[in-house]
Amino acid sequence: MKFGGTSVGDVDRIKNAAAKVAAEVQRGHKVAVVVSAMAGATDGLINLCRSVTPHYDLREYDAVVSTGEQITAGLMALALRQHGLTARSWQGWQLPLKTDGNYGNARIMSIDGDKARERILDGEIAVLAGFQGINDDNRITTLGRGGSDTSAVALAIAIKADRCDIYTDVAGVYTADPRIVTKARKMSRVSYEEMLELASLGAKVLHTRSVELGMRYRMPIQVLSTFANALGSDTPGTILTDGDETMEQNMVTGIAYNSNQAKITLAKVVDKPGIAAAVFAPLARAGINVDMIVQTDSTETGSTDITFTVGKNDLERACKILESERGTIQYSNLQSSADVTKISLVGFGMRSHSGVAATMFETLASKGINIQVIETSEINTSVLIDEEYTELALRALHTAYGLDGQ
Ligand code: ASP
Ligand code: MG
Repeated sequence: MKFGGTSVGDVDRIKNAAAKVAAEVQRGHKVAVVVSAMAGATDGLINLCRSVTPHYDLREYDAVVSTGEQITAGLMALALRQHGLTARSWQGWQLPLKTDGNYGNARIMSIDGDKARERILDGEIAVLAGFQGINDDNRITTLGRGGSDTSAVALAIAIKADRCDIYTDVAGVYTADPRIVTKARKMSRVSYEEMLELASLGAKVLHTRSVELGMRYRMPIQVLSTFANALGSDTPGTILTDGDETMEQNMVTGIAYNSNQAKITLAKVVDKPGIAAAVFAPLARAGINVDMIVQTDSTETGSTDITFTVGKNDLERACKILESERGTIQYSNLQSSADVTKISLVGFGMRSHSGVAATMFETLASKGINIQVIETSEINTSVLIDEEYTELALRALHTAYGLDGQ
């Protein structure tokens, strides 16, 4: 049972979560718990680092930001003991959960669930501090923002759990963000593959790497609400499973969006071999992730326009790098905009239905929304639009693909 930041946001909520654990134990289940930091705690800790220096050392950043989870793990163990249960907190290093040395965004290398599993089988509840691990240098690392989901799935795999329940502030995975699309429906099932696309394209309900991990080890994952009465063993939420036939019936399973995008256009780049490498290699060296890329045809003019997107936070840095590379890249003009959103349709059905993209373009056109960039892959179709039309586009597309509920 994993509880996210809002589910452990204050002491009453920690008690509420502990009561859910106790109720599962009452039903005869053996439970391990993974907790996030209290809502807002991680942001507060990051701000503390920033207020010392904006150029903080990531090793010390990890030492600081990992503490939020340490607190909730201890408080949760205390709250569980109030129910007469035996419980103990575990820090990542105590398992240990070993990571690589990529501070601030470390990847899990291995996790030893043996000691915890033994004690769980003896009836003790293990409460793991999410988000954190330890590396070969014996230093504390964190798994990247939202990484407690990944801790939870990793622990579930390591202790050979039957299922990993992720308790959060929404009832499950929706066909679109329910705060924007009021007719969004909660799905009872979604395939790992589609969830992976939805998560990486912007649906914030799960850390992308937790879905990857679940898929690789076939660990059933359920997303459900902490604030509803049902318990995980009632399976009221959304279950991530292997894809199945019924999923092929819908053209589109869900719609995601990502407003954290910025667009850069290099105009009139001389079209010759090596030019794309000259643009993107320096960005890669600077650790800037590039997402959508389009290059116009150069047959008529001999020069091409290259448009691509980066994260909003990287926009300024990316522009600086490209300006300093102007001598090599030889573009006539660099334009950028941070006011863009990427809207993505996701669904296995796209592989067998034609016309998915056409419906998308018609729908957006009928609302007067201009498409700036288009990108497709096997199970997603994405467009970049003006950020101010995000809500209108999401609602219109949700209706157009027959996803609306009551
Ligand atoms: N507390 C960490 C964060 O806010 C990890 C998590 O909650 O998943 O990013
Ligand atoms: Mg989260």
